[in-house]
Amino acid sequence: MKVVKFGGSSLASGQQLEKVFKIVLSDPERRVVVVSAPGKRFTEDIKVTDLLIECAEKALDGINPKEQIDAVVGRYKTIAEDLSIPSQVIDEIQQDLASRLNSDQSKPDRFIDLLKASGEDNNAKLVAAYFQSKGIQASYVSPKEAGLLVSAEPGNAQALPEAYELLSSLHNRPGILVFPGFFGYSHEGEVYTFSRSGSDITGSILANALKADLYENFTDVDAVYSVNPFIIKKPKEIKELTYREMRELSYAGFTVLHDEALVPAFRAGIPVHIKNTNNPAAPGTRIVAERENGNGPVVGIASDDGFCSIYVSKYLMNREIGFGRKLLGILEEYGLSYEHTPSGIDDVSVILRENQMDDETEKEIIKRIKTELHADEVKIEHSLALIMVVGEGMRRNVGTMSKASKALAKAKVNIEMINQGSSEVSMMFGVKETDEKRAVQALYEEFFTAVTV
Ligand code: ASP
Repeated sequence: MKVVKFGGSSLASGQQLEKVFKIVLSDPERRVVVVSAPGKRFTEDIKVTDLLIECAEKALDGINPKEQIDAVVGRYKTIAEDLSIPSQVIDEIQQDLASRLNSDQSKPDRFIDLLKASGEDNNAKLVAAYFQSKGIQASYVSPKEAGLLVSAEPGNAQALPEAYELLSSLHNRPGILVFPGFFGYSHEGEVYTFSRSGSDITGSILANALKADLYENFTDVDAVYSVNPFIIKKPKEIKELTYREMRELSYAGFTVLHDEALVPAFRAGIPVHIKNTNNPAAPGTRIVAERENGNGPVVGIASDDGFCSIYVSKYLMNREIGFGRKLLGILEEYGLSYEHTPSGIDDVSVILRENQMDDETEKEIIKRIKTELHADEVKIEHSLALIMVVGEGMRRNVGTMSKASKALAKAKVNIEMINQGSSEVSMMFGVKETDEKRAVQALYEEFFTAVTV
C-alpha cells in the first residue's frame, strides 16, 4: 500500500480537490491520504494556517478575530460549494473553530497550536466528506484516536516512539483513510503541531508505521530541481536522490520536502516519491537508500544565507585540552546552536545562523571568549551564505573540488571557508551573501551545463 500526502496548494480549491480525487482513485494502493490545510490559490493569497495564526494572536490580545474566522470558514465554504459537498461539514467546522477559540488561553503557545492544527484537521474532514459524496468508502481519521503521540513542544513536536505501534492498527480499517497532517497529541491529550510545513512529517510517520511500500508526496512542482529555479531558469530535474543527498540539499534551502520528514521513511527504508498534483504524469523525483551513480558526481547545488562566523585564534590551541568544549559551552549558555566548526592548528571558526543573535549577545560572547579562554583574537563576520555541492558520486570521482574552486575563482568569488570531507556526500563553501547568486551560477555552469571533452 501507499501513503499519499497532498500539500496546501494541492488542496487550495475545489478544482484542486478534483485532481486529488482522480489521483487517489487511479491507484487502489493509495490507501492513506494525508492532507495539509488549504494553501495559496494565487501568489498574494493567504494560507489557511497563516490566517489561523493571526486569529490566535488576535484572540490572545483580547481582540475579536472575526475577520480571520470568516476568512478561514470562507475558504472551506467555497470549496464545499464548488464540489457540492453537504453544507453540514461547514457547520461542524464553524462549531469546531468556536470551541477552540473558547478554550484555555493560559499557555499562549499551546493555544496557537490548537488553532493552527484546525487547518488540517478540518480539511481532512472536508476531503473525507467529498470522497464520500462521490460514493467512495472513505473516512476521516482522528490522530488522537489513532495514537499519533507527540512530545509537548509547541510548534516543534516530535513523534514519540510508541506512536508507531499504535498507528499500525490503522491497517485494519477499511476504505480510504483521510488523515490530517501537521499535528499530534501529547500523553495529556493536548494538541501540538510539528514545525511549519510539517504535514510531510505526518505522511512519513504513517508510511513507517504502516510499513508502506511507498510514500508519495504530491506538491506543485514536477520534480526536485538540481538548483534553485529562481537562480537558474529551467534547471535540470533530479530523477533520483538518496536520503543523504536530499538531507544535505534541504539543509541549505531545498524546501520541497520538510527535512525532518525523511527520518521515519529512511528508518523503515521506504522510498519517497515527490510528484506534481498539477502534472501527475511527470516522473517526479524518487528518494531512495541507494542509487546508481548514472548522473555524474554532483546531483544538486543548494545555498542559504543568514549565517555568521565567530573566528577564534589562540597560539597552541591544538595542545589545549578542553578548548573546543569551553568555547561551545559559552554558546550553549546563550542557547545558541552552531552549524559547523571548520578548524586549523591555532584557530577555529564557529558558523551559526545569525538570526539567533542580537548585538548585545554578540558583544558578551566576544568578551567572554577573550577573557575566559584567553584567545588572541576573536571576531565575527556577518552576512555569509553557505553553498552545498551535493552528490554521492563525489566519493568515487577525482577532481570535483578542484573543478568547483576553479569555477568560483573564474567567477571572482572569494571563498571564505571550505568544509569538505566531514560529509561524504557534500562539499560546503562559505561565501559573502553578495556573492551567493554568482557562486551558484558558476557552479551550476561547471557541473551541469559545461561540455566535457
Ligand atoms: N499547513 C501547515 C503549514 O503551512 C503545515 C503544512 O502545510 O505542511 O505550515
